[in-house]
Amino acid sequence: MFKSFRGLPDLPYAIAPREQAKYQSAILELVQELIRRPSITPSDGGCTEQLSERLRATGFVTEYFNKNGVTNLWAKRGSSDNKLPSVVFSGHTDVVPPGKNAKWETDPFMPTIIDGYIYGRGASDMKGSLAAMIIAAESFVKKHPQHKGSIGFMLTSDEEGEAVDGTQHIVQSLQARGESIDYAIVGEPTTEKQLGDSIRIGRRGSINGKIVIQGKQGHVGYPEQLSNPIHNSSKLIHKLATKRWDMPSRYFPSTSFQLVKVHSESGAMNVTPATLEMVFNFRYSPRNSFEKIKSYVEKKAQKYGLDAQFEWEHEASPYLTRRGKLRKTVQKVIQQETQMKTKLTTGGGISDGRYIKQLAKQVIELGPCNKTIHQVNERVAVSELNKLCRLYFRVLEELLIKNNS
Ligand SMILES: [Zn+2]
Repeated sequence: MFKSFRGLPDLPYAIAPREQAKYQSAILELVQELIRRPSITPSDGGCTEQLSERLRATGFVTEYFNKNGVTNLWAKRGSSDNKLPSVVFSGHTDVVPPGKNAKWETDPFMPTIIDGYIYGRGASDMKGSLAAMIIAAESFVKKHPQHKGSIGFMLTSDEEGEAVDGTQHIVQSLQARGESIDYAIVGEPTTEKQLGDSIRIGRRGSINGKIVIQGKQGHVGYPEQLSNPIHNSSKLIHKLATKRWDMPSRYFPSTSFQLVKVHSESGAMNVTPATLEMVFNFRYSPRNSFEKIKSYVEKKAQKYGLDAQFEWEHEASPYLTRRGKLRKTVQKVIQQETQMKTKLTTGGGISDGRYIKQLAKQVIELGPCNKTIHQVNERVAVSELNKLCRLYFRVLEELLIKNNS
């Protein structure tokens, strides 16, 4: 597998099409090797060690921060002088399961190329990005062995699962020893239609909650002797579902509340239930906070006279990368390479960007098309990965060469 790296020419995207082809086949080879490893979260299927070997061969110092069966890698190459710029690529090796009885056209762990697309679980989320990042770093180092500053890789096998022993743990370990990061690029699939049409500059926060409301079971024919938790909860549900939590801001929509489960039953037609349980999620903007939302919900429940017990989980804080060098550089590179103006967004689910932002001054997410992620027949266009590698490479040059030589 190192053959392709050793054989790479000095210029990563030289004009000669034959030389370009070498890089493109290196990306293609690597993404297929990764897909062949069934790394269903939190397993890494050996992906990390494979990437780690490659990084070591490129002069990176690698360290594992494994925790509770999760494989975490931190790799760094270059100066540890805090005054010099550091660029870190972040990604996950784990994938979601192919799905029970799901009807794939190909074996999800046997990469197959059809009409210019690589099919396989993880192709777009996010083994394609990993291959593009690694080849970008390899070719960058080959072209600029004396580059200033440092390049890092933060890889975990716990992003699709609980995401508590992965990137969060690496970030905490690095924080504990005073490591700092200027620019972090997360390879999550952010593209809507054409590579680079949109990048994430932040993500909303997420809160999970459960409320158990106590009533008094009774005969339906004697309403004065019972307290129906279904009726009692209806005001609260209506309030939470219709409230305007905050105003949308430039990059964030308003906070939203969604019930995902309501359960209450007695098992008989003539008996009212004793309790009701509801489970919900908030996606919230930086204009709100976990504390504010929690206190509002609890106070409302009290106001409506509910005998309620709460369970809260603050799953993710929101993050936002404001205008700065990383954002500007990525916008510029996308414009130059694709002739498109990229859209700055905070949409989608939550990502490890929220942890990295605690350590890195600026974080953006840039990756391939997200149309088939977590679905059957997940795929990514080969040409898209080649372009993505080119974008990562150019960002490295802009950040570590252009203004520092
Ligand atoms: Zn992902």
